[in-house]
Amino acid sequence: MSFRYVLPLLVVIVSLHPSAHAQDASWQQRVSYDIDIRLDTDSHRMDGRQVVRYENNSPDTLDRVFFHLYFNAFHPESMMAERNRVLPDPDSRIVPRIFNLGPDEIGFHRIESIRQDGTPVAYRITDTVMEVKLAHPIAPGAATEFELEYHSQVPLQTRRSGRHNREGIDYSMSQWYPKIAAYDRRGWHADPYVGREFYAPFGTFDVRITLPSEYVVAATGVLQNAEEIGHGYTERPVSVESETLTWHFRAENVHDFAWAADPDYIHDVIESATGITVHLFYQPDVAEVWQNLRTEAPAIMDFFSENYGRYPYPQMTVAQAGDGGMEYPMITFVTGRRSPASLRGVTAHEMAHMWYYGVLGSNEADFAWMDEGFGSYITTEVTGHLTGNPSPSHASSALGVLQAHHYGLFEPMNTPSDWFRTNYGYSIAAYTAGEMLLDLLGYVMSDPVRDQFLQTYFERFRFRHPDPTDVEKVAEDVSGLQLDWFFAQFTETDWTLDYAVRNVDSRRSGAAWRADITLERVSDIAMPIDVLITLDDGTAQWVTIPLGVMQGHKPVPQDWVVADPWLWTSPRYTLSIDLPARVRRVEIDPMLRTPDRNRLNNVTGLPTAITFLNAPQQRWTSYGIGWRPLAQYAHNWGIGAGLQARGTYIFGRWRTQAMLKLWPEVLFSGGDEPDVTSDPVLPIDGSPVDGIDYELRIDHPQRVFGTFGSVSLRSRKHLGIIESEARISALLGRHAILRRGQRELILSIAHQNRTSDRSLFTPVAAGFSSDDLVFARVGYRYENPTTRVIVGLETGGSFAPGFDFGSANRAYVDAAISTPVGPFTGVLHAQVGVGADNLVSQRLFRLGAASFSDRWGQDAYRTIGALVDDPWDDLHWVAFGGPGPIAYSLMQLPDFGGTSVVGAPSGSNIMAASARLVTGRLADARPLRPLRLELFFGVGEVWSDEFEASDLLYDAGFGLHYNVAELTILRRWVAQSNVLSGLQLTAQFPVWVSDPELLGGDEQLDFRWMLGIVVDRPFGN
Ligand SMILES: [Zn+2]
Repeated sequence: MSFRYVLPLLVVIVSLHPSAHAQDASWQQRVSYDIDIRLDTDSHRMDGRQVVRYENNSPDTLDRVFFHLYFNAFHPESMMAERNRVLPDPDSRIVPRIFNLGPDEIGFHRIESIRQDGTPVAYRITDTVMEVKLAHPIAPGAATEFELEYHSQVPLQTRRSGRHNREGIDYSMSQWYPKIAAYDRRGWHADPYVGREFYAPFGTFDVRITLPSEYVVAATGVLQNAEEIGHGYTERPVSVESETLTWHFRAENVHDFAWAADPDYIHDVIESATGITVHLFYQPDVAEVWQNLRTEAPAIMDFFSENYGRYPYPQMTVAQAGDGGMEYPMITFVTGRRSPASLRGVTAHEMAHMWYYGVLGSNEADFAWMDEGFGSYITTEVTGHLTGNPSPSHASSALGVLQAHHYGLFEPMNTPSDWFRTNYGYSIAAYTAGEMLLDLLGYVMSDPVRDQFLQTYFERFRFRHPDPTDVEKVAEDVSGLQLDWFFAQFTETDWTLDYAVRNVDSRRSGAAWRADITLERVSDIAMPIDVLITLDDGTAQWVTIPLGVMQGHKPVPQDWVVADPWLWTSPRYTLSIDLPARVRRVEIDPMLRTPDRNRLNNVTGLPTAITFLNAPQQRWTSYGIGWRPLAQYAHNWGIGAGLQARGTYIFGRWRTQAMLKLWPEVLFSGGDEPDVTSDPVLPIDGSPVDGIDYELRIDHPQRVFGTFGSVSLRSRKHLGIIESEARISALLGRHAILRRGQRELILSIAHQNRTSDRSLFTPVAAGFSSDDLVFARVGYRYENPTTRVIVGLETGGSFAPGFDFGSANRAYVDAAISTPVGPFTGVLHAQVGVGADNLVSQRLFRLGAASFSDRWGQDAYRTIGALVDDPWDDLHWVAFGGPGPIAYSLMQLPDFGGTSVVGAPSGSNIMAASARLVTGRLADARPLRPLRLELFFGVGEVWSDEFEASDLLYDAGFGLHYNVAELTILRRWVAQSNVLSGLQLTAQFPVWVSDPELLGGDEQLDFRWMLGIVVDRPFGN
């Protein structure tokens, strides 16, 4: 489609002269710094003297001023440290480092003296903020001069600034001098340094830095004495005799000054096509990847300068320093050990800040999206430009926002930066939602008008401090649209967006077709919407439906239809339109511009993406379905065949699984099978239904009890056993999903029974009661990387004749911890459980093994074990699970209808513990990577009447453990197979047992072997 834009009268207002705006409330303070510091690189301390000339352009008389003393943040008791103690997802660059800073490693500014125009003044320091009571007030329009002397310690690099960063850069000097706070029409902004971000008046910096002469310095500003310094700043060779050098930098129209110093810096200078001098500083070990920046850095600066407003400074510096990527005027600190794409991405992002931060000095502490979001938007644009994609999609930002909503962690964009409840919430609001906002602005006003808005915004507010109302005003001026509704909904609320197609009615109307298309706003956010109508004759019609409160519409291509505006008070809207053919399909926002949380209803019919022999894909625009045929052999059941389909939507929402499997041998024999019926022990109650297995399951993550959780419904029948369960789980705690240790509450009710006696002759499905068993469970689970605690309370029983309610009452505690033991991992695992005297057989506790219920439920165990007549005798096949000695799973219990059905001792009560010592990876070669070796010791007892200490059983031995899911070659199959994904093969050799007689032998020390599947193994790998 050709986008010949009909630009109506609307954009005339663009030409408003900038100065026409710069009246009345547009005053701003101004400052100039004269700083002279001497850095002692042995003690990492510096002595500073600075003169700050401050112009009060406000209409207010000021009787105090504030300075930021940022270095004071780097201390175990600072606000920054305390905040990171409390946040659910503390910054890994700060924690735990800041808590461990010693006296020589903390940062501080010690103020030696402050004078105002020569008169000493009183001051008070709270954390990182110094309040200065003025000797004489500063009247509107007047200026004053502060003279400060200070002594500071450069902290060990913890966040952004400091000495000795992780890549060995000696000094990353940002937020390093007493800096006057911002004062604007909202008053003082003396924000303590808690984490983010910065806001300060524009001015001039004249900075002299004295340090040993072998250091190379990168800084904001232009070096004034390059001929004395050399170090790559001048082409002429400079010979330095003195032990120290004093570097003199000067910068104008900036609101901060940063520098970095290291003796090993390589210094490159490149001129960009538009005349920007780019300086690169990096260490030799990253030189190879940094060579890319010689072409990319100037190209990025030129692209930004040409598209978003002319870069107003003579130079730009990229220095390897800091702890990630951080912007300062005319310089950025980025860490250097990166892939080429990562280095390009971070450099582009920080360079974008020269526009949104550097020149447009907005209040980042209150409106971080204005710099981080706009910066992220143009970073995506320049990355597209550099990689051959001139119009890159920003849809991933909308998806990122949706994910935050999904977890319940989205916070309004205008939340003050340090006050977000989580770091994750901040990063989504500032970066991701900020990028989305600019993309959405293009959707609302058209992309070319949005690009014009960015240019005008820059021109009108360069070297100023725009706030959100300024952004809105420029956007309105440039587009001619009223946009209050847009900024209010997206920056002030945590609302979500969901539009749906509800009905399409197409009928003949003379030569044409009349279509009535009913659309609905399902969620809160009201937006103009673009609709694509596809007709039966193969043609298509675009329609834009403006929102009434826009008082206009965006410019659209000539062949689009502009519909009547949608008045936001109506949740529904009917688009009536004459078309040349019948409507085949209607889709809302097919270009993926809006953060629509459910796109399955954006189109007529359910959009699906079906794959064969592959796991379903999580897509935004369609419901992913993966299907495959199944085949299985099971002893006593013959060959079974069926189909499985699984479905999912974004973030694992509405996950479904459906399976149907038929066992012809059982079906056609009416459920009876000769070998089985000939056994006299049990009455056989065969039915053709025994030959049908199925599984139906739906899982949906959603908020439960005000926190993140999920609901799940499941019913399945395998090998004559049926189980159905409804379950709700919730992570406890408001931001649980972000925490390292998660507490989960699980409520469920379940039904189990055995529908066929045939199961008794298939040992992997044996042990179930044929009565209908109903039970409810309350479970609690705490898990972090080294500790796991599970508590379960179950109550229930059978409603069958001979009513025996209570036969499913159980309570248990299961706890495990793992800890490094030399080169190994030590795992201690213990369980205590009590159950009803007549505990139903499938829920009996079993020593060192999984209960009947759990082992039947384990797909891999059930599927592989059912292959043979007698998995115990033939394969020594065990479902390992739970603590305690495992050797007794090899016990021969009395015959059960001709088959030795069970191994491990079982009972209504259990007390058991295991200790394991597990190696790390034994070999790096592919097939051996998942292999681990272990030593184990187990002790425990199960009993039904009374505990006897003398009945405790012990074993010890070694084992091999192989986690098949770790094999990358199988990744595709693991993803789609319940059997493979649960396949943790283990071979165990309990060579020593305390009671060999139970195993039919008399040697305590003997070779014994067992193979099996792990049903439950805390910290198993
Ligand atoms: Zn940024």
